[in-house]
Amino acid sequence: MEQKLTIAIQKSGRLHDDSMKLLKECGIDVSNGVNKLKAEASNFPIEVYFLRDDDIPQYVEDAVADIGIVGENVVYEKKKAVEVFDKLGFGKCRLSIAVPRNENYESNPNYLQGKRIATSYPVLVQQYLDDNLINAEIHEISGSVEIAPGIGLADAICDLVSSGSTLFMNGLKEVETILQSQAVLIKNNLLSNEKQALLEKLLFRIHAVKKAKNNKYILLNAPNEKLQEIISYLPGMKSPTVLPLAETGWSSVHSVLNENDFWEIIEKLKHAGAQGILVIPIEKMII
Ligand code: ATP
Ligand code: ZN
Repeated sequence: MEQKLTIAIQKSGRLHDDSMKLLKECGIDVSNGVNKLKAEASNFPIEVYFLRDDDIPQYVEDAVADIGIVGENVVYEKKKAVEVFDKLGFGKCRLSIAVPRNENYESNPNYLQGKRIATSYPVLVQQYLDDNLINAEIHEISGSVEIAPGIGLADAICDLVSSGSTLFMNGLKEVETILQSQAVLIKNNLLSNEKQALLEKLLFRIHAVKKAKNNKYILLNAPNEKLQEIISYLPGMKSPTVLPLAETGWSSVHSVLNENDFWEIIEKLKHAGAQGILVIPIEKMII
């Protein structure tokens, strides 16, 4: 029987949609049927299990699932024997300590000495306290951590933050970040050769998708006398493509630009006399 790779993703919640989208962009069709415990892809030997994110590291350690998509915060909190092997660039957040807004926090974690800290991440918080030689009491609660100071259950909290609006609404301010997190791929430590080969195939596609997201295809018209200068600003995959335009003295230049230096290069191109600049998203990039 043909072996299948099994992947665990979050059943519902903040990582579900982006995880499904990633599979789709990799050309993997998962019919997300009514029975949402698992689903099979029609065109790739992969089976998807839908689980609570907290359970994913355990399932991957136990080889119930070969690989999984989960937040780094969960991976490091659960301390399971799994390998983190790729960052996925979504589900970005930070695990931060927050205290009531009117507290006088002098940018020094010593403030937490002897205090009560409410959190769903006792392992990571304890590690942070130990690293900073702080003695504090950790109160583990599983949800709505941000209300703990208001009801007198704790003096501070440690929770996931992205915009900070939840903290703000609860009269809290963020004072220390103890972990930056994003969604990652984890894998079981002992994959069979056949499954490892399937994983390589999946990774090849994931990298093509990620690369494409970081790059844009650019087309522009350049007066021939400025061609050399304009080309010098463009990296391209090998070198830019240059084609003559119907109008004499002009050329069309095609290239690929990285998102990071995009605006800076566009400015230089315009300054050098480029016209009719078009920027197009790239769907997949295979180098
Ligand atoms: P489950 O039902 O699967 O246990 P959950 O309620 O524990 O879900 P979510 O709130 O859906 O989890 O968050 C899942 C993951 O999304 C987090 O572990 C974290 O890695 C990431 N994340 C990104 N931004 C945020 C945020 N602002 N708040 C909380 N989690 C975030
Ligand atoms: Zn959870």
